Amino acid sequence: MSKLVIVGTVAFDAIETPFGKTDKILGGAATFIGLAASQFNVDAAAVSVVGGDFPQDYLDLLANKNIDTTGIEIVKEGKTFFWSGKYHNDMNTRDTLATELNVLADFNPVVPEDYKDADYVMLGNLHPIVQIGVLEQMTKKPKLVVLDTMNFWMDNALEDLHKIISKVDVITINDEEARQLTGEYSLVVAARKIHEMGPKYVVIKKGEHGALLFHNDNVFYAPALPLEEVFDPTGAGDTFAGGFIGYLTKTDDISFDNMKNAVIYGSTLASFCVEKFGTERMQTLSRQDVHKRLQQFSDLTQFDIELS
Ligand code: AMP
Repeated sequence: MSKLVIVGTVAFDAIETPFGKTDKILGGAATFIGLAASQFNVDAAAVSVVGGDFPQDYLDLLANKNIDTTGIEIVKEGKTFFWSGKYHNDMNTRDTLATELNVLADFNPVVPEDYKDADYVMLGNLHPIVQIGVLEQMTKKPKLVVLDTMNFWMDNALEDLHKIISKVDVITINDEEARQLTGEYSLVVAARKIHEMGPKYVVIKKGEHGALLFHNDNVFYAPALPLEEVFDPTGAGDTFAGGFIGYLTKTDDISFDNMKNAVIYGSTLASFCVEKFGTERMQTLSRQDVHKRLQQFSDLTQFDIELS
């Protein structure tokens, strides 16, 4: 079975949406990616850092989903990364209220020995220097490296971000961030410019409007499933990334055609993530739930047209 290394924040989040407000709950990019990838039963390890304030229960939750947590360092005297955000009424845009790096500020990642030869690497959202540090520890060239990032790192570590972008095969990024990174409004032009920075594949996430996959002149579009209820979009992007890389790790096929399926899986899993606060929905998600929704997805996008 192929192995997957996941790096990203493991965090406390405090979220405010038009439907309610949470205190500090479990969050973080690696958490959402791991929960999504666990749907594929892949051999995955998370690399991250938390403080002494982080409950063991949360680490157990990941371990119970078969995610190796030995690469999650616990800094006993430190505080866990904290993020807080507030969603606007459209639920597609949000303001970040706080980003407290805490133990992430001096984090030196250590990839567990058994995973240094992994074929798949998911560089989830966190400092680009940490992402570079993980890649440098791999003892053989992975088959596929996927990078996810966000505006925070464009604002605070652009030079290092460009370094890591130049080293990856796939980047997943949301529409606003693609525009910020390239200075281009058109997503087609933005994707071309990002190709020129390094990644052969560019995935642009458009929230409730789906996702676009670009590879040279090929483009694939997956809509987001129209949902009756969107409760909390936090982690949808990471869940998408986890579904995308989880599916590719499981199938061990990195062709463009298979990446299309990976995008569909990513969108499907993200559609569950937003139904409850934080990681709640992803914790109980069953394979049956996923299959049912994949069928809905297929029905939604299926049509027969005769071209005359
Ligand atoms: P998403 O909604 O997919 O963009 O991801 C939200 C998750 O990203 C939250 O659980 C946060 O803990 C985490 N997060 C927020 N800001 C950052 C950041 N600057 N670096 C890494 N992770 C972050």
